[in-house]
Amino acid sequence: MTGLNIALVQWPNRTLPTREEPCQTGEDSSGQERTVNMPKVPEMSFKCGGRSILQVVLTPYTLCAVSSETDDRMRAIAERVFASETKDEDVREEISLFDVAENCPILNQELADHVANDDDVEKRMKILRRTQPLLDDKPTYLEVPHFQRVTITGDYAAGVTMDDFELACKGLYRALTIREKYMKLAFQRFPITPSQFLCQIEGEQWKPEDQVLPVFTSPPKSGEDPFSTKGLPPNNGYVARMKDGVIFVYKDAASADKHQPLNHPGPDLATFLDDMNFLIALIAQGPTKTYTHRRLKFLMSKFNVHEMLNEMEEMKELKNNPHRDFYNCRKVDTHIHAAACMNQKHLLRFIKRSYRVDADRVVHVLKGKEVTMKELFASLNLHPYDLTVDSLDVHAGRQTFQRFDKFNAKYNPVGASELRDLYMKTENHISGEYFATIIKEVSSDLEDARYQYAEPRLSIYGCNPNEWDKLSSWFNKHKVFSPNLKWMIQIPRIYDIFRGRNFVPHFGKMLENIFLPVFQATIDPQSNPELSIFLKHVTGFDSVDDESKHSGHMFSTKSPKPEEWDIVKSPSYSYWIYYMYANITRLNQLRKERGMNTFQFRPHCGEAGAVTHLLACFMTADNISHGLNLKKSPVLQYLYFLAQIPIAMSPLSNNSLFLEYNKNPLLEFHQKGLMVSLSTDDPMQFHYTKEPLMEEYAIAAQVFKLSTCDMCEIARNSVLQSGLSAEEKEHFLGTNYLKDGPEGNDIRKTNVAQIRMAYRYETHCYELNLIKQGLMAE
Ligand SMILES: [Zn+2]
Repeated sequence: MTGLNIALVQWPNRTLPTREEPCQTGEDSSGQERTVNMPKVPEMSFKCGGRSILQVVLTPYTLCAVSSETDDRMRAIAERVFASETKDEDVREEISLFDVAENCPILNQELADHVANDDDVEKRMKILRRTQPLLDDKPTYLEVPHFQRVTITGDYAAGVTMDDFELACKGLYRALTIREKYMKLAFQRFPITPSQFLCQIEGEQWKPEDQVLPVFTSPPKSGEDPFSTKGLPPNNGYVARMKDGVIFVYKDAASADKHQPLNHPGPDLATFLDDMNFLIALIAQGPTKTYTHRRLKFLMSKFNVHEMLNEMEEMKELKNNPHRDFYNCRKVDTHIHAAACMNQKHLLRFIKRSYRVDADRVVHVLKGKEVTMKELFASLNLHPYDLTVDSLDVHAGRQTFQRFDKFNAKYNPVGASELRDLYMKTENHISGEYFATIIKEVSSDLEDARYQYAEPRLSIYGCNPNEWDKLSSWFNKHKVFSPNLKWMIQIPRIYDIFRGRNFVPHFGKMLENIFLPVFQATIDPQSNPELSIFLKHVTGFDSVDDESKHSGHMFSTKSPKPEEWDIVKSPSYSYWIYYMYANITRLNQLRKERGMNTFQFRPHCGEAGAVTHLLACFMTADNISHGLNLKKSPVLQYLYFLAQIPIAMSPLSNNSLFLEYNKNPLLEFHQKGLMVSLSTDDPMQFHYTKEPLMEEYAIAAQVFKLSTCDMCEIARNSVLQSGLSAEEKEHFLGTNYLKDGPEGNDIRKTNVAQIRMAYRYETHCYELNLIKQGLMAE
């Protein structure tokens, strides 16, 4: 147990109708028994569209002290939260524990009274007097054209009591320090501005050396062979072995036997769970929900006013910017699956062409017998000449909405898994030749378009340790390299299927199959040159599957270790995320020590399912894909804003699967200042044109009425978020790209107005400053 995890949260007494819940008893550190009210939830009912909605506004957790029971109590809260998330769809429509109702709860009479009666007015005035000049700090940068700033003067904590304000600030501060800790540990990014604020709060001086960054392989110089095995480092004799689901690195076999690993720091499970439970309690905490909800509303309104006042000035800047426009500023498709990176027409044309050329080639094994392409198509009762995009049937549509199972079937052309094997797999009778050719055609289109890049994901399943060898041999054999592609590895969360078929004995084996070969290739690169070369071009790991499937498991100290997890059921999302993160962290430590590129963790998160997924990724992921469910938790949404966690959004994909286009939060997130980029997800299923990424931008621009400055800002975000090397980012964004605000922006390269950059930067600082004020208030 690692001490006090939750600030004492106690709402002032007031007369509200309450529903008594059974009391639990616990022991505090002195061993005395005392009663803990597990959450006593005052309820308020209000009408919404003629329907009475039960609204849970206040959750006065009386969480106390350090004790052996702390974890149990945290777990009880977490379980309650978890239960509220796994209810039936229609029940979930009610306001969940993380939610704040659209009509702000502070407007409710009871809460209004709370603010009016329970506030510390004297303290408020004192702080107001003290902080006024602090909030009017003048920016230090130059070169931003004059624009109209939106300033709010007076009481910045209006609408919440001083106690609630301080409580919220403490929680948010602690949450940010948690993220910073886990990012640094894994060589992932935490932006300079919040890091500087955290230092200031702690009374320390921020130093540039404090910044931790991932390492990516620079593109090959002209004439350099990206597949060259020259200069691979020699074996350094280390030994890698798995223990409790995490791979440790040892100096030699003897120290491995004694479990004396090298001093590579990694996360500690007990601390991680404490941090996670703290965050779970925080995002369900009434005052913090109210406070963050109000800040987000404010951010939205502030952007609208900024836009109204400065739209023309921003446009003027862009018009005066020579050479650069939206078409020739760099954009990265930050989330795309290799197996669906071509569009349906491209696949159709490729199938027809391959049949014309290769009809008599042996391409497949059918029921133990080798068959030619002609025979294969005959067995499926079709002729490629007759195929159309309609009969190919790979496009998602009305039938896939809320049906992930049907969507997965769309990966099979004409519904035939044989064709998926032949055209979209790296491992088949023709060694994945067709798939490699299709990808090379896609990358050559990108190279022609010149300003577009993509980060396709290839799968490692963890069913067998030689998957890496096969994948890297495919990569090297077909020379699947393009300067416009940055590779990622996706791990499907399908343990239950493998365990059900007895392919793996337990979950730990799966983790070992996924990570051990990479550790070994890092320790002795020359023993596996193909894999070592491939890993140089891999920038990160993704975790994929249908998030709306509930595992029914809750990650806690009582969860079995991965090696003990031998039941057929899959562990929870958070469990998966933790063990992936823990292994990536140790792997990065090793690779950094060896002077190699590191890997980012960039899971699919918040597309569906519980908001706790977004919480696990707040702690562990450099950036995420989707993030739709941030809509459901103002606290997490605000934290994603404060920490500027990049989110790759794919509204066209969501439109076919989980959320109608006009309800997509992309615009809202962008306006509030969350760091969003646009990505295609699966062009084969969702797009029509030869430039799916442009299609994505074009539709977003039309539906959401985005300005050129908005689009260029999103494109800039996509480059920042991506696994492009530092060298490339400097080239595409300007030499100071790591700095925040106008200083870090080179308008000649990005076409983002300096006015916009100044607005974003000042707004971000303002919000961080509020937290600082809240913490200094005491
Ligand atoms: Zn995806």
